[in-house]
Amino acid sequence: MCVQIKIHRGINQIGGCVTEIKSKKARLLIDVGSNLPTCESEIKVNIHSISKKCDAVLITHYHCDHVGEYMQVYKGVPIYIGEQAKEIFMVFQKKMQDTGVTEITQDYIDRIETFKIFKQGVPFEIEDMKITPIRTDHSAFDSYMFLIEVNGKRILHTGDFRTHGPLGKSIPKMLKKVGIVDVLICEHTTLSRQDETFMTEFMLQNEAVDLIKNNKYVFIMCASTNIDRIASFYHANKKAGEKLFICDTYQKELLDYVSKSSTKYTDYYNFADVKSFDRNFYSSMLDKGFCMLVRSNYFSKRFVHNPKFKHSLFIYSQWLGYLLGQNADESIVKFVPKNYYYLHTSGHATAKGITDVCNIVKPKVIIPIHRRKLTRF
Ligand SMILES: [Zn+2]
Ligand SMILES: [Zn+2]
Repeated sequence: MCVQIKIHRGINQIGGCVTEIKSKKARLLIDVGSNLPTCESEIKVNIHSISKKCDAVLITHYHCDHVGEYMQVYKGVPIYIGEQAKEIFMVFQKKMQDTGVTEITQDYIDRIETFKIFKQGVPFEIEDMKITPIRTDHSAFDSYMFLIEVNGKRILHTGDFRTHGPLGKSIPKMLKKVGIVDVLICEHTTLSRQDETFMTEFMLQNEAVDLIKNNKYVFIMCASTNIDRIASFYHANKKAGEKLFICDTYQKELLDYVSKSSTKYTDYYNFADVKSFDRNFYSSMLDKGFCMLVRSNYFSKRFVHNPKFKHSLFIYSQWLGYLLGQNADESIVKFVPKNYYYLHTSGHATAKGITDVCNIVKPKVIIPIHRRKLTRF
């Protein structure tokens, strides 16, 4: 037997990703994702029974459409994830547990504690498979591609990625080191989502500088775990003249962890000047202005819906589908002011980004995943 690849889910849908790779001696799952709320797919995957026969589960990143079904993984089968991704996911799940609106219990947290970690560029072996994690650029921090080498075959699984964020430039360099592969399992999200925009993360940051300069009170709504987006606004604020940059205690905990764990590599993710809200800031906030990270919760509503800040700018910096259209989230629709300013760029590769990857690793076979079924007109 050579090597078998099975896409259990994710070939004709965005998210819900589960890929299996099987050799003579080993069996792996890459990602155990849940279906996104916007997904119309009815495909059911029994993660429990599939994982029972596996030697390991590799997680590309902490978005739920890649890790959401981790509790279904057979106990005793190791789950591998990046070190920072593990911690961020843990803090996020604890927050979900605290809000009490999801099913997250202590068991969920305890299971994350057992996740094993890998390091960028450091190969590890599962039986006859050699796995090399390659750090990539995505809207989840500490995301990875995996190079799997087994029985003389080389398989590259991209996970979700893009080439227009802060780490994007290093992807071609890293993939040149990877060299030619036999099979490329590659995300194709944007080829089926025509509403995505493609400014670079750096262009977004530049636009944010002017917005922050020209508006005294600035609210910013983006995913709490989209660290690169928060970094864009944080650095934009510094360039704009440095107002107070405020968030809630949960967001502060996440950013403190990222600062602490990243500064040995780069200063870019040092969020030392982010402040957790304190009542003593209030008069200074009114006088001098501020940037505040907000979400549709009680803490944020007190400010966003406060008449004292009615002349504020509200920047909406995440997927527009949560706010508009048939899949909109009711709590977000009620929270976001009607005159919001949309400033966002996709976490997924452009057509050019995908082509560039293909031209570098020159696969014999491409398996497109993470895309909606294409319809011919
Ligand atoms: Zn995804
Ligand atoms: Zn993702």
